[in-house]
Formats: sequence, structure tokens, C-alpha cells
Amino acid sequence: MKIKTTVSVIKADRFEYETELHLKIKGDFLGPDSIDIPDTYAYAPFINSHDHLIGNWFPRSGDNRPYANSHIWVEDMKESFAYQERNNFWVNDGKFELTEPNAYILAQLGCYKNLFSGCGYVQDHAPVQKPSYYKGFPISVVSSYRQCHSITLENWWGGKSAVQEMALTKGKMPFIIHLSEGTDDITCKEFSQLKKQNLLQPNLLIIHGVALSKAELKEIAKVGASICWCPTSNYYLIGKTLDIETCLELGVNVVLGTDSTQTGGINIFDEITTAHLKFPEIPLATLYEMISVNAAKALYLPKDVALLHPQNTADLLLIDAVEHDPLENLLEVNSEHIQLLLHKGLPLYGDAQWLEYFNSVPTDYTEFRVGKREKFVIGDPLELNDIIDAALGYHKDFPYLPF
Ligand SMILES: [Zn+2]
Repeated sequence: MKIKTTVSVIKADRFEYETELHLKIKGDFLGPDSIDIPDTYAYAPFINSHDHLIGNWFPRSGDNRPYANSHIWVEDMKESFAYQERNNFWVNDGKFELTEPNAYILAQLGCYKNLFSGCGYVQDHAPVQKPSYYKGFPISVVSSYRQCHSITLENWWGGKSAVQEMALTKGKMPFIIHLSEGTDDITCKEFSQLKKQNLLQPNLLIIHGVALSKAELKEIAKVGASICWCPTSNYYLIGKTLDIETCLELGVNVVLGTDSTQTGGINIFDEITTAHLKFPEIPLATLYEMISVNAAKALYLPKDVALLHPQNTADLLLIDAVEHDPLENLLEVNSEHIQLLLHKGLPLYGDAQWLEYFNSVPTDYTEFRVGKREKFVIGDPLELNDIIDAALGYHKDFPYLPF
């Protein structure tokens, strides 16, 4: 089946106009051979390089902002309304066994946050879980990684020492760590501590890096390591963000992450918008690279997942054309504007009229209404919300769920 959209964003600096996309779906396509879809832009699904799937409760926590470092917040947030309300559903007993049923419901919910904002891949920063954890999600949750929570708090949430975790990567997968998330002495010293442990390697993915100096960023660029920029979370928690201008000047591989909604924005659309509003001089194509090619590199994903493939379109994000420019468009749209999200040949979300073409796809969908539009989504996130509501005894609203 072929579709023709207004513009296809093959990658950040290559647009094709009225190109035919050859859709590849699981099952037979029950519809016309070719459809014209005017006023629509096609993208490759996005890659969110930093989230904590179980942490996507609401509202944000942190009554004593700005914090000199995030380690103070880690303790402080345990007193927050959101953390304590979540305790009525799932208590973090320190084991971080996220396959436990209620933890898994929270992780699924976090996954839907990403799905409803057009992400095909997300990195879930938590201790490495059992393989079954990564297999049950509608989008791809990166399963091949090692991690440490942070240099200062080490792996308080589970996992081996930072040095052991890095050794386990064998240089073939990312090693992910929160670093320099603050403005005080403690966070300013974290980079040199990281180096002493020989963790400054090409597969290092630093999360935040707010306190990193120019000289340190130069070393990171030289090694070819990556930094995940989470501006919304940084401004909320620390009141300051990564020195992004220097990163770009030096050619550091920067990726974008939402973080969880405990500190971050609502979803990746929100994150792109915040990055643009705070740094309007950064070209939108550069921001787009952060959620596509740069992210694939940092997370050791195949290069292909960051690009749109017109001849073999098994991964597709089709969005209403609201703005004249397809990249500016991303600043104006939300879940409602997604016409179709296709991941590895499986339709995940979109306008319900597509469903008649997907009758033979072997999966279950749920339909719901957003404004005037009927939508379908894989699985049943409404049921997840109902299970949480039943445990709390009232309705809990998660702003990233469009229903
Ligand atoms: Zn984080």
C-alpha cells in the first residue's frame, strides 16, 4: 500500500515533497493500493533518550527548588504529594523489580506517554531488568545498556558498581549515568571522579551535565561520548541547564530526553518546544537530530531507526501539517494531531479511520475520542488508568494521556 503526504522528512536536512511511501504492515492491508493524504507530514518515529518509565506520576515534585544538586531532591521528593500518592498504588521497596504487577502498570503508562507523542524508542533509566520486562511494551524500550544512577549516590536503586557496569558493556552498548546535575561543589567534582574510574569512554551517555565546564565538555567531545539534554527538567529542578551552545560548538553528540514527569515536561513535543523557546538560535534541524540520528548513535541503535524509508516504511509518524515548515510543525502539535504511528510494521496509534485497513493485524486496539477525532491505540491504556483509579478511590488524571 502506498500513501502520498505533503512532505516526507527523511532526516533533519532532507525533505521530499509528495513522495510515495510504501507502507509495510504486519497482516494484509485491506484498502486501496494508493491514498493521497493532503496537509500531512511524515517523519520517522522519535527517540526519547532519557525517561524513568515508572516515574511518570503527576504533578511534579520538589518543594524546595532550585536545588544545588539533584541528590538533595532525591530525598526531598519522597515527601512530595505525588510520591506519596503513588505509594497508594505501588511502593518502591528498594528492590526495583519493575516486572512486579503494579510497577509494570506504571511502566506501561510511562510507555504510553512516549507513544502518544510519537516516540518509537525510549531509554528507561533504571537498573537493568529481566528480559521479559522489555518485551511487553508497545514501543521499543532500549534493552541493551548498562547504567549507574550517579557518581555521588552510586547504584542506590540496584545494579553493580559503575566500574563493573561499564565493564559489562564491553564497549558495545551505552553506559548511562546522571552526572553534574546541579551547581554546587559536589556536582562540579563529579566529572573528575568519573574520569578517575575510567568511565569517560565513547559509549558513555551522560544525563544532564548541567555543571560541566568548557574544558570538561572539550574532553567529552574528544572521546566521542554523548550527553542527554533535558532542559525542562533542569530548569525546573536546578534553575539552570547544560551549556548547550558550547556542546554544539565543540560537536558533542547531544541527544534530547524528557526525564520523567516528576521533574520534566509532559512529553517529547513539550521538550522540543522548551528547547526551542529557551534557545531559539539553535536550528530546529539540530534539535531534530537530537531525537533521531544523534540518539541512535548514543543508544547504539541501528542507524536505520532514525531515518524515514519511503521504499520500505515499517516505521512512520504521520502528523497534521499545521505549520508551513515540517520542523516548525513539531512546536505546534500534540497527540491529537498524530494521524498514524507505525512501529516495526505494527500500527500503534492514530485516527480510527485507519483501522478498517488494518482488520487483519493480529492485535487488540482500544478506541477513544479526542476533541472531534476518533482515535485507536494498541492495548488498553484506559484500563490501566481505571486500575489506578480503583486503587486510589478517585480518578487520577495524567496529562500525557490524550483521553
Ligand atoms: Zn533521570
